Amino acid sequence: MTILELRNLTKVFGGRVRAVDDVSLTIEAGATFGLLGESGSGKSTLARLIPRLIEPTSGEIFFEGKPLQNLRERDLRPVREQIQIVFQNPFSSLNPRMTVRELIGEPLYIHKRASGAALDEQVREMMRLVGLNPEHTNRFPHEFSGGQRQRIGIARAIILRPKLLILDEPTSALDVSVQAQVLNLLIDLQRTLHLTYLLITHDLSVVRYMCDDVALMYLGSIVEQGTVQRIFRQPAHPYTQALLRDIPSTDPDQRMLESVSLEADIVSAPWNGQGCRFSPRCPVAQIGECKTVEPALVEVTTGQRAACHLVKPHLVTP
Ligand code: SF4
Repeated sequence: MTILELRNLTKVFGGRVRAVDDVSLTIEAGATFGLLGESGSGKSTLARLIPRLIEPTSGEIFFEGKPLQNLRERDLRPVREQIQIVFQNPFSSLNPRMTVRELIGEPLYIHKRASGAALDEQVREMMRLVGLNPEHTNRFPHEFSGGQRQRIGIARAIILRPKLLILDEPTSALDVSVQAQVLNLLIDLQRTLHLTYLLITHDLSVVRYMCDDVALMYLGSIVEQGTVQRIFRQPAHPYTQALLRDIPSTDPDQRMLESVSLEADIVSAPWNGQGCRFSPRCPVAQIGECKTVEPALVEVTTGQRAACHLVKPHLVTP
């Protein structure tokens, strides 16, 4: 069953910056969908468009088949209980003057779900669930480590029992040694609470470890999308190939296009708005079509779509 569908979602800032540009995707209930991109690719803006924390310029959002774009603020509240975000930085996203009890229990209070002793009990239950000591409810965020703070952020996000969790770089502010612990906690919680994840990251290894499907965003647009198995085995888009070049493939012969490397970065090689948005950095860009015609996202093979003039369906074996 599809839990989330985005159709042609677009967000333009200041009348001209297309932070999210015509994005369409679907996420199945119970799956982990990875959204992969560099900073500036629009992935965090996309995360905030879904529960309408910021308003889309155009396009449609369907949650469990219901369109969200025309809901009034009051009607959005129950939807926002079902769609929660875990933010990247557990150091800045938690109010330092609130106790853990207040931080984790606040959503229950705001949505009038519980108060008093019932709220306390639910907070303690959430703390146990995320691996925190439930006796520490009166402590403040600074008394916890980075990993523990992110567990507080996760407890706060799941206390309303949402269906969809948007995880915005949930481990990138943490030490490498605790990243895996937090990812494993998320895997456990997904099983226990039947959660669906939209996982936003710039880290390929996190995608490979966690995700069923992945979409690669570049300058606001999806340039390749498919199952993790397919994309990591046979990346079709030159951008994906460049990102994957350092990851050893178990079966390199399966790669149909040669691996490429990127010398320019997203800032030093700006796109002028014409042709393929990746053309200023693309090592295999062609003169002509690549500079003048924006490639559409087309099916390469079952379970994989890419936006590149050089990628033809027959190049990749099914
Ligand atoms: Fe590179 Fe051209 Fe493909 Fe864009 S369309 S990724 S510039 S080869």
